[in-house]
Amino acid sequence: MSFSANIKKELSRAASARTCCARAELCGILLFASSLERSSVRIQTHNPLLLKHLGIVCERAMGYTPSWSASVTGSRHTISLDDPGDMERIFSVLGYEYRDQLVLHLNAPLVEDDCCRAAFLRGAFLTGGYVTDPERDYSLEFTTTHAVLSRELYALLCDMGMPPKTAKRRYTNVVYFKGSEAIEEILTLMGAPRAAMSIMETKVIKDVRNTINRKVNCETANLLRSVENGNIQLEAIAALKAAGRYEELPIRLKEAAELRERFPDAPLSELAQNADPPITKSGLNHRLKKIEQLYSEMRGEGK
Ligand SMILES: [Zn+2]
Repeated sequence: MSFSANIKKELSRAASARTCCARAELCGILLFASSLERSSVRIQTHNPLLLKHLGIVCERAMGYTPSWSASVTGSRHTISLDDPGDMERIFSVLGYEYRDQLVLHLNAPLVEDDCCRAAFLRGAFLTGGYVTDPERDYSLEFTTTHAVLSRELYALLCDMGMPPKTAKRRYTNVVYFKGSEAIEEILTLMGAPRAAMSIMETKVIKDVRNTINRKVNCETANLLRSVENGNIQLEAIAALKAAGRYEELPIRLKEAAELRERFPDAPLSELAQNADPPITKSGLNHRLKKIEQLYSEMRGEGK
């Protein structure tokens, strides 16, 4: 089950206790449904708990539960209501005028109080929301094909001090948040504190993992560099020996060469620690570079 689907399950257990909140939540669920018309509503979801949750919300918002019909195809649940009488009651409870032309918009009096605003967002998220797996990205979005509704949601979130971003994807209007902190805040507000906590934990683990990776990469690069340097020096020593030039080298260079032969892969610092008589790292480096230089001069002469 996806991260987003788990959040919806968690939200489906967080029902609104007060009538005002239940109405706001029902409004959110319906406005962001797959289709909402004057005489019918259709919700498509992968959340198996939504039907039961919708019943509880309706009961608290209106004092009764319409007879929703539900069908399942694979993991997709389709919940719908086609009864004009039920639809009329729902619209009247939510404060919409039940006219021929239905304009989908957020009924402001429903979301005046903070408690109702949180409930409305929960409802909207249940049918129109999505959160990306925090392992991949930090992104939470509400999508709707209705531009007016999208603008009203944007205004509501700005008014709540959580300004989102907006985008248009073909026929879909997206109101979204980026960044783990904004997402944690809105999830907690909507009633999914466990999901918020899990994003927090994922972020901590990812941060630690990145730090370790950076460190390991850095150390690996250093190690490779010292092995590579060692190989060049060994090649230079072998070539000088083969050409009969090695014996002519000053004793200090020969000492450095022997040290390198004894510890072929050791980094310079380790090599310097094993030197007898002792020598500094930079002194030893200087001598080994000298050997490399003699080798490259010798190769130049050979050409
Ligand atoms: Zn309320």
